[in-house]
Amino acid sequence: MKFTDIVGQDHILNHFQNAIMKDRVSHAYIISGEKGAGKKALARLFSQMLFCESPKDGKPCGECQSCRQVISDNHPDVHFVLHEKPATISVDDVREQLNNDIMIKPYKGPYKVYIIDEAEKMNVEAQNAILKTIEEPPAYGVIILLSANPASFLTTILSRCVTLTVHPLSEGAITEYLTKNQMALEETARMAAQFSGGNLGKAIRFVRSEGFQEMIDNVVTVITNMTVLQTWELVAAVKEVEKYKLSVDDYLNIMAKWYRDILVYKATRDVNQLVFQGQMQEVIRTSEKCSFPDIEEIIKAIEKCRTRLHANVNFDLAVELMFMAINERMR
Ligand SMILES: [Zn+2]
Repeated sequence: MKFTDIVGQDHILNHFQNAIMKDRVSHAYIISGEKGAGKKALARLFSQMLFCESPKDGKPCGECQSCRQVISDNHPDVHFVLHEKPATISVDDVREQLNNDIMIKPYKGPYKVYIIDEAEKMNVEAQNAILKTIEEPPAYGVIILLSANPASFLTTILSRCVTLTVHPLSEGAITEYLTKNQMALEETARMAAQFSGGNLGKAIRFVRSEGFQEMIDNVVTVITNMTVLQTWELVAAVKEVEKYKLSVDDYLNIMAKWYRDILVYKATRDVNQLVFQGQMQEVIRTSEKCSFPDIEEIIKAIEKCRTRLHANVNFDLAVELMFMAINERMR
């Protein structure tokens, strides 16, 4: 784990750097952000910063024994609080793994770090137990709560923790990261970035899953051959989503992106803004063939299909109606 592995969270990294340099490390932190936003990576990197044996400008080296131990979750003074029940972190979990353990001096020093992932799963008793330690921590104690929903914490916990919020990333930053670090194709990267809602972890999962690229290819094939394929063939193609382990919602999202590309091109004549970079000619051709109202109706038909499926309308019927509505506009 290096500084450069964390994208777009300089406000958090700067906070940690300052705290360490000024010797003002807090005893309790909340790192808030949705699943996949990189909370655990930040907690690990902070641990490295605390323990690194040869930091440079406040940045951990990533190579010393302490850094390597943190990276491989083997550092004797960095503890992840685990819980047996999947849905709850109980008072016993907190007492056994944190309250009692933190009283034992650090093995290597100068800190002892406790990381609680999905800390919103602590019930009230567990929160009250942890509160005692947060109120009177040993000098070396650092507790890091990771949570997608810090609003579920007692106000007494919130008021004693430094809360750091993971920011969603821009689509551009995610696209760049995916093409550079994940070797994703530009088109796949852009699509994953748009789908991720600024969540890098989610975007990485999309580009790593084989099904995601296959589904994009499927959508392109369906759309570019819509006028020559039979309705049942179109419906069968959409049903392939099950094979990709993705949802029909994702499929419809990709379809909608295609028609948004056409809309964008029609309005701007700027190919750089297109998601479907590999299908530029086809996008341009369709944009010349269809009017603005045509494309708007098509996008509406896709949304209508989505609404129908959510309302449990028969799958084949909902999808057929969508293709009929689209074909009508493509003539
Ligand atoms: Zn190091």
